[in-house]
Amino acid sequence: MKLNICHLYPDLLDLYGDRGNILALAARCRWRGIEPVIRQASLGEDLDFMGMDILFLGGGSDREQGLLVQDLMRRGDELRSAIENGLVVLSICGGYQMLGKFYQMAGGEKIQGLGILDVWTSAGAKRLIGNVVVELDEGVLNGNSKFRTLVGFENHSGKTFLGAGVKPLGKVLVGNGNNGDDGGEGVRYRNVFGTYLHGPLLPKNPHFADLLLELAILRRGLGTRLRELDDSLEELAHEAMVNRLLKQA
Ligand code: GLN
Repeated sequence: MKLNICHLYPDLLDLYGDRGNILALAARCRWRGIEPVIRQASLGEDLDFMGMDILFLGGGSDREQGLLVQDLMRRGDELRSAIENGLVVLSICGGYQMLGKFYQMAGGEKIQGLGILDVWTSAGAKRLIGNVVVELDEGVLNGNSKFRTLVGFENHSGKTFLGAGVKPLGKVLVGNGNNGDDGGEGVRYRNVFGTYLHGPLLPKNPHFADLLLELAILRRGLGTRLRELDDSLEELAHEAMVNRLLKQA
C-alpha cells in the first residue's frame, strides 16, 4: 500500500520544525509496511490534489504568506474539490490562516484566504508565544486513542475567529490557541485540521498523526484501522510535557 503525502510550499511554509510532521507521517507509514510517497510543490509547480492522500501546509511569516497568496488562489477550486472529496489536510498557523477567509495584518492590509474554512484572522497587538496544551473535543479522535491532549508550541500575532458552522479542535489548557480570548484552539472541517501548534506537532502527538493516517486510508477504502505501533517512548514524552506544562500553569 502507498500513501501520497504532499508538503505544499516547503520553502515558504516551514517554521519551527514543521517539516518534522512530514517525517513523522512517513516514518509511521514505513513502520507499518506502507510506502509513503512524499511530494513537494511550491510556486508555479503543478500538483494534483485529487491524487494526494494527505496535504500539509506549515506556518510562515506574513511576508511569506504574501508571497504565495496568488499561487494558492489559482489552486483554490481544485483544492476545494479535493477537500469536499475527503482529502486529509493538516495546516499549521500561517497555512491554517490561508485556508480561512482572510488574514488582516497589523497595518490593516488584508491577505486574502481561500475561504475553505469558515474562519478569519486579524493580527493582535501582542504576539502569542509559548507552549500549548489542548484538550481535544470529544469526537475528534477515534475511540482507541490513549490521549485526549495535544502538545505544541505557538508563535503568532494572528487571532483567529471561527464562524458559527465550524468548531475548534479543542480547548486550551495552557497557552492561547486561536485567539487568546475564547479558549478554543484550531478547527476541523471535514478531514481538514487547522491548528496553531508547531513543535512539530505530529512527533509530539503520535495519536494525532495516526488519526490523519486513518482518515486517509479510510477515504481510499484501504481499511479502517492501522496496525498498532510501540509508542511507549513517544507516550512518555507526551505525558511528561503535558504534566510539566499543567504544573506550571
Ligand atoms: N503570520 C502569522 C502570524 O504571525 C503566521 C505565523 C506562523 O505561521 N507562525 O499570525
